[in-house]
Amino acid sequence: MNIILLGYPGSGKGTQAKVLSRKLGLFHVSTGDIFREELGRKTPLGEEVAGYISAGRLVPDKLVMEVLKSRLSTETRGLLFDGFPRTVEQAEALDAWFGSRGQAIDAVIFLDVPESDVASRLGARRTCTGCGKIYNTITNPPAKENVCDACGKPLMTRDDDKPEVIARRIQVYNDQTEPLLAYYRSSGIFHRADGSKAPDAVAEELVAMLSGKP
Ligand code: AMP
Repeated sequence: MNIILLGYPGSGKGTQAKVLSRKLGLFHVSTGDIFREELGRKTPLGEEVAGYISAGRLVPDKLVMEVLKSRLSTETRGLLFDGFPRTVEQAEALDAWFGSRGQAIDAVIFLDVPESDVASRLGARRTCTGCGKIYNTITNPPAKENVCDACGKPLMTRDDDKPEVIARRIQVYNDQTEPLLAYYRSSGIFHRADGSKAPDAVAEELVAMLSGKP
């Protein structure tokens, strides 16, 4: 089974992808995590993408596809895409690539949250520096301030979750990623989920939605 999670930055894609990949035995593919990892290791790819990420802009499609193909060439598990595709061009490239491998996307899930909630969600997001668990300081805080419940490591605020970058990312979503909804809506595999519910309730809805899939 191959699944795509779509939605605004801050709609809960990362949180849900972690739960779903564990429950369904899928390989979680977050292009944002891949880029941040390369950035952290200061690799040439990391240096190449740094400017785009810190400005809240998209990494060029060609580079995104090259990185994905090289990372996934030997992966045999079903894939759960989080933060990819982000443009119609990436969706078309994914279709072509999957087509050449005899694979298909089984479900596209749009995590629907109002645009007016996105900036506050991103501003309140904290990520564990150890295990990557995602918190919200208002709706889902850790038991001890700034310390991960799961692994005890400190939490951090992502550089691109700063107010000036958040506004740009919302605009980039509206301009470049939102058109993907129309691209997939007509495909027969498109589902909408209410992303404004509590994370556990959203996860329950998604598992129920996917349980009928092969
Ligand atoms: P995310 O963690 O998904 O919010 O991604 C963080 C940043 O990485 C984005 O704001 C983009 O700069 C870059 N990025 C992640 N995925 C993609 C993608 N599929 N296409 C282009 N840029 C991406």
